[in-house]
Amino acid sequence: MSAVPLRNNKAAASAVRTVSVLGATGSIGDSTMDLLRASPDRYQVEALTANTNVEGLAKLAREFGARYAAVADPDRLGALKDALAGTRTECGAGESAIIEAAARPADWVMAAVSGAAGLKPALAAVDRGASVALANKECLVCAGDFFMQRAAKAGACILPADSEHNALFQALGSGNREELVRVIITASGGPFRTWAAADIEQATLAQALKHPNWSMGQKITIDSASMMNKGLEVIEASYLFALTPDEIDVLVHPQSIIHGMVEFSDRSVVAQLGAPDMRTPIAHCLGWPDRIVGPAAKLDLAKIGQLTFEEPDFGRFPGLRLAYDALRTGRGATTVFNAANEVAVAAFIGGKIRFGAIARLVEATMNDWVRSGNLAPLTSADDAIAVDHNARNKAATLLPQIALKAS
Ligand code: NDP
Repeated sequence: MSAVPLRNNKAAASAVRTVSVLGATGSIGDSTMDLLRASPDRYQVEALTANTNVEGLAKLAREFGARYAAVADPDRLGALKDALAGTRTECGAGESAIIEAAARPADWVMAAVSGAAGLKPALAAVDRGASVALANKECLVCAGDFFMQRAAKAGACILPADSEHNALFQALGSGNREELVRVIITASGGPFRTWAAADIEQATLAQALKHPNWSMGQKITIDSASMMNKGLEVIEASYLFALTPDEIDVLVHPQSIIHGMVEFSDRSVVAQLGAPDMRTPIAHCLGWPDRIVGPAAKLDLAKIGQLTFEEPDFGRFPGLRLAYDALRTGRGATTVFNAANEVAVAAFIGGKIRFGAIARLVEATMNDWVRSGNLAPLTSADDAIAVDHNARNKAATLLPQIALKAS
């Protein structure tokens, strides 16, 4: 059975839901807390987590009366306890505390830690059969099929929270797997959509952080500028919905109003539309199997006037091509793709490499991985974490030569 629920497979929603938010202090966390804030009688917060932002975490834990708050930095336990003195919130710190937060008995968990660090906590929620709203695409890209198999085995319900995947999730209910021809993931094209390759090569951090439509965390905003994010989403769609690379197309749609479409055998194309506001897909996940009231702006198509579309440019945005390559290669290659990208983005933020070198570092790391003959199916979280770790080391080793190389 698929871990992503299909149509007519709705479970009864209970009156008060217990919820946990992993990555509560981030951009997705913020949107999620906003939705919870709107219906305080409907949700009881079990656990909230952050990486280092003790102040933000404690503020949320107090506001929502969370039973447990955990910070990933082990040195900040004292600070968290001080900030929550006088409350009933239990405190934890370190990676194990984030995993414990996910393992605690909440009906619904938002998995919104950024990067591969989100894998073990998401698995902890999956293993106890929770409903998991999955925003963290990296953990799926990193663990691949294994993640979905484990979710299916545990009876967990994976609710795609990423806007494009949420759109596909909603549209897929219009037909059966045998009737599906392809899915189309839309992409805004990011801030460099119309830029020449030479200018993209030299783009600054401030330019990369200026997304035209979406307000998001730093890592995903840079990934959107390089279109690595779309690459991660192609891989995510493949694992979430068991699709081959040939069944997934990317279409540039600068207005970000249509988030995803599904084409069926009769040539009907079913799309999901909405203002670019992450609270809409998160509300869909939070309300599932029902629909709740969402706070996003009403879609006014007459005011928008035009919806336009372009083919993606694999030449100026090589990250997208590399994602398809990784997916076709399989056997840990998507893990390598993700790990190398995380290293490259951190190096770009740290001023060590040019923007254009992000894709070159990912490509060099993937090539090295293929040449080494280390490709093997991932059968456990430890496998995925080992490949991730080795690929990060390899990317770090290749970094100085990539940094020196001109485009
Ligand atoms: P942010 O950087 O805004 O937030 C990340 C959250 O994870 C913060 O709470 C952060 O804590 C926490 N965190 C970071 N590193 C660790 C770690 N090592 N261990 C534990 N917690 C950690 O990211 P976003 O909210 O933008 O993105 C979260 C995930 O959702 C990503 O995987 C992203 O790709 C995905 N996503 C995001 C979208 C968006 O619109 N933002 C859209 C679709 C998907 P602290 O605040 O202390 O640093």
